[in-house]
Amino acid sequence: MNITIIGTGYVGLVTGACFADLGNTVICADNNKGKIASLKKMVMPIYEPGLAELVKRNVKEKRLFFTSDIKEAVKKSKIIFIAVGTPPLDNGEADLTGVENVAKVIAKNINGYKLIVEKSTVPVETGFWVAHTIKVNVPHPKKEKIKFDVASNPEFLREGQAINDFMHPDRIVIGVESQAAKELLCELYKPLKTHIVVTDIKSAEIIKHASNSFLATKISFINAIARICELVGADVVKVADGMGLDKRIGRAFLDAGIGYGGSCFPKDLDAFITIAKKNGYDFELLKMVREINEFQKGDIVKRIKDALWIIKDKQIGILGLSFKPNTDDLRSAPSIDIIKRLQSEGAKIKAYDPQSMGKAKEILPGVTFCKDAYAAAQGADCQVVVTEWNEFKELDFPRLKKSMRQAVMVDGRNIYDPEIMKKHGFRYVGIGRGKVK
Ligand code: NAD
Repeated sequence: MNITIIGTGYVGLVTGACFADLGNTVICADNNKGKIASLKKMVMPIYEPGLAELVKRNVKEKRLFFTSDIKEAVKKSKIIFIAVGTPPLDNGEADLTGVENVAKVIAKNINGYKLIVEKSTVPVETGFWVAHTIKVNVPHPKKEKIKFDVASNPEFLREGQAINDFMHPDRIVIGVESQAAKELLCELYKPLKTHIVVTDIKSAEIIKHASNSFLATKISFINAIARICELVGADVVKVADGMGLDKRIGRAFLDAGIGYGGSCFPKDLDAFITIAKKNGYDFELLKMVREINEFQKGDIVKRIKDALWIIKDKQIGILGLSFKPNTDDLRSAPSIDIIKRLQSEGAKIKAYDPQSMGKAKEILPGVTFCKDAYAAAQGADCQVVVTEWNEFKELDFPRLKKSMRQAVMVDGRNIYDPEIMKKHGFRYVGIGRGKVK
């Protein structure tokens, strides 16, 4: 099939490359000319395992193309995915101006039947507004003749394992309101041989917000359990293991720690709370989820202070900056908040992250970026695990301890065994792992 993906970011680029790999002809279009110029030179704008190879292969085999000429891309394709960003506004609503702009460009360049698919995460009823925007912007002479459908096809891929998630999804959700749209999307996804949930557009839009909100709720729930564990002297990791083996609950997303971040959960929760309120429902449960998550970030700073007494002039090593492992994405990463709070109290920060230091240098002035975890620990009064990259799980602890001024390990992701850390001579501070004085 001929497909255009408008918006060539984490979602658009992965989606485009994967659809091309399945044998389709795909144009990835973006209004960021610099990004398109880099992609044409095979320079990836993001780090995502396996992506560079996938893109290169499909460009070479002439199935994947890049352009900043969105009008031409619209004209050439029957199926157009909208994968632009939907960042949060100050009032919590999703900023949908990118989606509206794309809908206008599609309307002005429509030259036959088109299926316009929302891939971006959008609030319920966006599908209606996309269709309305296209209808009112189609140039007059074409107005009566032009036929199009709008569909919702929310994306569930996780950064860091996006290609695998795209190629082996748990399910595909498509919200459609015509037989033609249903048939086209079912045909497109047929090679993935997975369960396709077909709904109306509004239900599909809500499935995405409800799924992200539920996952965030699991994280805040286990963080609340971690607090009780600390009050009574229990271990939240063992509690999560015991709960998670119940198939009705599941172990995933039951890891207590600094809390969630990233470009999706915080903004999608805000948007869901806001759209619910607009429609007359006060989503108090999600407000509490958000509050618990905010508390976790401040609490880790308090734990560091409790361990070091005075923060001013103390040297703190930060392990991990990206919002989660295997990505260089720093959007709403807890590390930024934590580092800024520590700096505001006079701490000196040394940091190491395997992938995101290039981006971090632009937003975290005053931080010394190091070549590895050991360099970040050199002379440190405390080492803080912020992102659970695999390479931090198996460090040479005697070497680490030797290079630090004080052997204090604040494990914001509970990746270490408290007993083993104590044996290595560290003062260990985890989250929800026994009584805290
Ligand atoms: P991103 O910021 O990485 O990419 C968005 C791209 O859209 C950018 O390259 C930008 O230049 C381009 N763009 C913006 N306005 C445009 C316009 N008018 N015309 C053409 N291009 C335009 O964002 P992302 O992380 O890929 O997310 C995209 C959407 O997918 C968001 O709604 C997000 O919530 C959703 N989503 C993201 C993830 C994820 O893990 N990142 C997962 C599922 C869903």
